[in-house]
Amino acid sequence: MGLVSSLRRTVDGGLSTVWECRNCGETLSEDAAECPRCGAEDVARYEI
Ligand SMILES: [Zn+2]
Repeated sequence: MGLVSSLRRTVDGGLSTVWECRNCGETLSEDAAECPRCGAEDVARYEI
């Protein structure tokens, strides 16, 4: 197995999406429409 395929596999396997409240910084569950902690609807979505 070459370096490129190993690297590619790592990238594919490591990508995940997280949601975070812009107001209080709470990490939210997937596709949350609003923050359960503060009620803000301003949710940021990150792919990491
Ligand atoms: Zn919040």
